Amino acid sequence: MKDFATVRCKQCNTPLQVPVGGKRLCACGSWVAAAAVPPAPTMDITACRASSDTVRVGVSWSHLPSTGGQIFINTAPLESKYDVVWNQKGKQGSRSEDIFIDGDIVDIVTVNLYNAKDPNNITFEQRVIGDGNNVEEILPC
Ligand SMILES: [Zn+2]
Repeated sequence: MKDFATVRCKQCNTPLQVPVGGKRLCACGSWVAAAAVPPAPTMDITACRASSDTVRVGVSWSHLPSTGGQIFINTAPLESKYDVVWNQKGKQGSRSEDIFIDGDIVDIVTVNLYNAKDPNNITFEQRVIGDGNNVEEILPC
């Protein structure tokens, strides 16, 4: 189903229903266009404890031009840190990793999506699970 936007004709000021991303001919003879609205980027992460030694982290995204990602797990107390890095080009995708954590408490799970093509080379979207309060906050899978 097509979405419509109400756009006023620049020539005669008549409001017209125009398909989003398309255009329509006004009665006065001029074309009236409705700009396409880019879809909102989304990124979701989940984390659960698959076993006493394993954390399962999942990430999915859409409309985000990423070239790779990284998962960090901070344990409590902060003695060890685990991370996984991957390359994956695409505006949408998903990734699931089982990360060995050696029985530690999972304090913070951080997932970054990078875009290596960005001029600054540091742009990413980030999601975090946990509060850094030294308490495990993820549930069994
Ligand atoms: Zn018009």
